[in-house]
Amino acid sequence: SAARTNLAFSAKSRLSQNLFNLITLIGNRASALNMKPYLIGGIVRDLILGRDNQDIDIVVEGNAIELGENLAASEGGSVRTHEAFKTATWTSPEGIKVDLTSARTEYYDYPAALPQVELSDIKEDLYRRDFTINAMGMSLAPVDFGRLIDFFNGYLDIRGGIIKVLYNLSFTEDPTRVLRAMRFEHRFSFHMDEQTETLARNHGRTLSSVSKPRIAGELSRLLIEESPVFFVKRAAELDVFRYILSSHEDVITCLSRLSVYEELAKQVNLEKSIHNWTAILTLLSDFTPDAFSECRSYAHNKQEARYVSEIESISSAVRPAVIKLSEWHRILEGKSSVASAVFFAKAGSEDQAIAEMGRLYLTGREQVKNRISGQDLIKLGLEPGPDFKEWLLEIEGKWLDEPNLTKDDMLRWAQEHLLIRASENETE
Ligand code: ATP
Repeated sequence: SAARTNLAFSAKSRLSQNLFNLITLIGNRASALNMKPYLIGGIVRDLILGRDNQDIDIVVEGNAIELGENLAASEGGSVRTHEAFKTATWTSPEGIKVDLTSARTEYYDYPAALPQVELSDIKEDLYRRDFTINAMGMSLAPVDFGRLIDFFNGYLDIRGGIIKVLYNLSFTEDPTRVLRAMRFEHRFSFHMDEQTETLARNHGRTLSSVSKPRIAGELSRLLIEESPVFFVKRAAELDVFRYILSSHEDVITCLSRLSVYEELAKQVNLEKSIHNWTAILTLLSDFTPDAFSECRSYAHNKQEARYVSEIESISSAVRPAVIKLSEWHRILEGKSSVASAVFFAKAGSEDQAIAEMGRLYLTGREQVKNRISGQDLIKLGLEPGPDFKEWLLEIEGKWLDEPNLTKDDMLRWAQEHLLIRASENETE
């Protein structure tokens, strides 16, 4: 039964040797200081699931700052402390970062639903967490190292594949948990239990009262680490889609755009970036000026905002059409492949020929990029100057239109056309 579950074996086999030694050491040291140490949160869940996770989160019943300072003094490494939160981050001599938290610090809002009974510190700490599967601990004390701490039947819920809140007001206190629930559903192929799902359904609206950056934090993980397709389907099902993106398209449209986008992403090396998610979000929108502002309002940084602005500027300037690749190159040169792919995915979901155009252009652009440089033009006898950029663009365009030309062919063409043009410019 869960009550007797011991995770020492899983921890030893799953964690790296270094990490395992480290948590053992921390456990010993905390006990020597009369504190009760626990490994908590996602890593405990993942030990039970047999999934890789090397993110060490430790909660102690006791003063985490004292523990951190003690570890740094005796083992070396360095420690950063936050008095206000009673937390410490110890960086071990091998460079492993360990977060140490004191139980019962108010780093989450205190649940209004918490019954006014005496709870052990660790129980109270775990009660503030999102779902039963994330609300377990593993003792690190030498006397019972590996003992599973599971007040809320998280172990059984993992076995049953269930995402379940700890109390009914959970989503009221933190509506972003609705997005977290969806994320874990997808990642583990789990499902919310009936009660949790009903609560989630009723909390879509409350998401509109949450700050954009907080939603963005969870939304980005759903769209990037998990799946945009899952997000669209599940968010619509739970009726939370409109509260996250009021300018969203209908589900069928979103899914068909995503399928073109994912096909393009497969063939083109889209910048592998954790910031792509704003572009994907924009793809789900109705491409109105309001939609672009709405998507931009979620951006955490310039890069994330830039994707939205690029998509906006491309779609307001260009009508999708079947034209030569060199012409597309003139329009999209300098625009990221992510934003370009979103543009082609939207148009391509309505017109197969445009999707194909996008594929040809984006894969072609990768191939011609950097195949001829300014140095090559100088070797041809061209004077470096302001026209260089234009000439390279022209060469790339020619190459896109006639991909079978060799580099020598291209240089010969450049010599014939550009040298003449350069001398014409001089005589003007
Ligand atoms: P991942 O594997 O994606 O990192 P995780 O469970 O470790 O999953 P984090 O977002 O890193 O997720 O959070 C760490 C832990 O902190 C969670 O397991 C959960 O116990 C708690 N937690 C995080 N966010 C919330 C929240 N919004 N409400 C309540 N508890 C939370």
